[in-house]
Amino acid sequence: MSLQDKVAVVTGGSRGIGRAICLKLASLGAKVVVNYVSRADAAEETVAAIKAEGGNAVIARFNVADSADVQNAFKQILADEGRIDILVNNAGITRDGLVAMMKENAWDEVLDTNLKGAFNCIKAVSRPMMKQRWGRIVSITSVIGFAGNAGQANYAAAKAGMIGMTKSVARELASRGVTANGVAPGYIDTEMTRDLPDEVKGKILSEIPMNSLGSSEDVAGAVAFLVSDDARYVTGHFIHVNGGMFMG
Ligand code: NDP
Repeated sequence: MSLQDKVAVVTGGSRGIGRAICLKLASLGAKVVVNYVSRADAAEETVAAIKAEGGNAVIARFNVADSADVQNAFKQILADEGRIDILVNNAGITRDGLVAMMKENAWDEVLDTNLKGAFNCIKAVSRPMMKQRWGRIVSITSVIGFAGNAGQANYAAAKAGMIGMTKSVARELASRGVTANGVAPGYIDTEMTRDLPDEVKGKILSEIPMNSLGSSEDVAGAVAFLVSDDARYVTGHFIHVNGGMFMG
């Protein structure tokens, strides 16, 4: 599996799962554009880790939720790199709360970042990828988008939205050699899940047949397959990486 000469943009590549995806794609030969929105230090660490292993990476700051920002950033990336072969929609946030108490801005922020953010980026790469007649779009959704979760109506709606959007994009772009797939992680050990109270973690573990949280590398491995030539005939599909917690 080689990604030599490919250019990959990973949104939210500065930390957590996104960082592991950046490292994996770079280790396979891709030049990686590491996106972040607020933590420049984390993005720099990701790039340094890639370079330490002999890989190639640059940083691009943009807010996926801001369509003008995304448009400008992708224009610049195309001007600098000449092409974008791979887009990984990984940037995501949570603003949890029970629906009866959920503030409107908690709904809007999560939908704008997790769902509209992915749309903004897909829109920006779809024409160049169609022209190239080769492209790979992978969106990081969640087990919550398939199963739902009390306290995460906004997050579940955004992640379920990504599933429908991915299947539609897959149908639109298939004839041009561009695939659109997703990875649906279960509970992965990152900053997003580290602060969960112990009793919540205990309950989650009791529902996972493998009895442990996953790692960011587990997710990165599934992404690497979907962006490879080996996955040429796979589109509109979701790989569950969840230790058996949900078998959709
Ligand atoms: P982290 O909180 O560790 O990292 C989030 C990343 O998203 C950071 O790089 C952050 O950038 C970036 N980001 C957030 N908002 C924006 C924005 N508006 N524009 C650009 N970048 C942004 O999250 P995880 O690594 O845990 O999660 C990554 C993805 O995986 C998310 O989509 C999440 O929903 C999904 N997921 C995670 C699971 C888990 O258990 N951890 C389970 C299932 C799905 P910065 O560093 O600048 O803040």
